[in-house]
Amino acid sequence: MSTDPVRPPSVDALARELATSFTLPHIVLVDCARRAIQSEPSNAIQLAHQFAHDFSQALQVDVVNATGVLLHSNLGRAPLPQFPTGRATSVEFNMSKGERGSRHQAISQLISLLTGAEAAIVVNNNAAALVLVLTALANGRDVAVSRGESVEIGGGFRIPDVMEQSGARLIDVGTTNKTRYRDYEKALHSRRNDIALVMKIHPSNFSIEGFTENVSIRELSQCSVPVVADIGSGLLDNTCPWLNGHLPSVPQWLANEPAAKQALHDGAALVTFSGDKLLGGPQCGVIAGNKELVDACAAHPLMRALRPSGHTMMWLQTVLLSYCERSVCDDIPFWNMVSRTTDSLRTRTQDIVNAAGYGHVVPVTSLIGAGSAPGTSVDSFGIQVIGDVRQQLRSLSVPVIARTNDGNTFLDLRSVHPNDDSLIISALEHISQQ
Ligand SMILES: *Cc1c(COP(=O)(O)O)cnc(C)c1O
Repeated sequence: MSTDPVRPPSVDALARELATSFTLPHIVLVDCARRAIQSEPSNAIQLAHQFAHDFSQALQVDVVNATGVLLHSNLGRAPLPQFPTGRATSVEFNMSKGERGSRHQAISQLISLLTGAEAAIVVNNNAAALVLVLTALANGRDVAVSRGESVEIGGGFRIPDVMEQSGARLIDVGTTNKTRYRDYEKALHSRRNDIALVMKIHPSNFSIEGFTENVSIRELSQCSVPVVADIGSGLLDNTCPWLNGHLPSVPQWLANEPAAKQALHDGAALVTFSGDKLLGGPQCGVIAGNKELVDACAAHPLMRALRPSGHTMMWLQTVLLSYCERSVCDDIPFWNMVSRTTDSLRTRTQDIVNAAGYGHVVPVTSLIGAGSAPGTSVDSFGIQVIGDVRQQLRSLSVPVIARTNDGNTFLDLRSVHPNDDSLIISALEHISQQ
């Protein structure tokens, strides 16, 4: 092909050349070629390769999560327990009558059994759950929130902004570090306010320490309006009956996590939470509690825009059934990772290092991640490799994502599925040959 700087290659010739280096659809390569020729005719070949490379890198791929962050927000949080068969699902089909049914019925019953809620519905994520609750139950009215809980959840998602979007007015209560029950009472009794809900938001991604005070759900439930608790992580019950002896007792990292069952028992009218954090399921958001309020959310026109796919519902159902069967530590990847013993991790790590003939076995600490259980960690074992080799690990055919500390690379085995140990072995062999 001509590299004459005055005469740029044709789009077609350049696209065909790109096809020798990239397995991307022709239409994508043509686009890369056209954009390169348009923007820098004299440097089109190199630029087109760059565009095609950038496109390949932007495609979503399967990776091995060796970061030790069990619910890694950039890696899709909770890994999925199963994959769709490719068949249709009975998502909105009543199997006994052979006509249209409800996609929420079974899941609502399962969540009720597990948390004591009267009813539940599922939307795309917890942010959507908050938007729906506020729009359906407080549009044009006021919602009381403690100043200590008026937070940014992540990715620029801020409680005051969500409130504004949903047409509810935020009434700030108390101060950043101290809010008392009488602060809520004052807001409720002020004649300027028309309070529809009190909202309690769990500060998942930070902790305030020192001279602080906040009001429990039990106290708040004495208010004359419904209390909505955004508990965040989707811990269903803080006694963890599903652990079933896999962990000796309720683990220490769960100590400060609010749970749906206890929040409802304490008097929250509704709880909202994510499906893909501690619950261990697919990305979704759950609204559970008082049936009248859940029904009002379900009947709102926004519900149609926020409803999850049939496959999401199926994954969630599988996960909830595992909770009922108490087989969570076997079936749900997050609970499986977090319940692995450090002895088993040390053995796996040693076996991998022996097989690869490279790396050192070291104790490391895993994090729960996704803003859950902030400030806590779980002991683990990993492999230390001298130097920062993250880039090489990312360029493998199944990329391995690791972390560095003090210039060295660490692969934490707690977040790696044992089926992928062979990938870690070949990754280490690859590094050792560089
Ligand atoms: C994570 C979180 C959210 C956002 O949930 P998504 O499912 O990511 O939309 C909202 N509130 C709290 C308290 C959270 O921890």
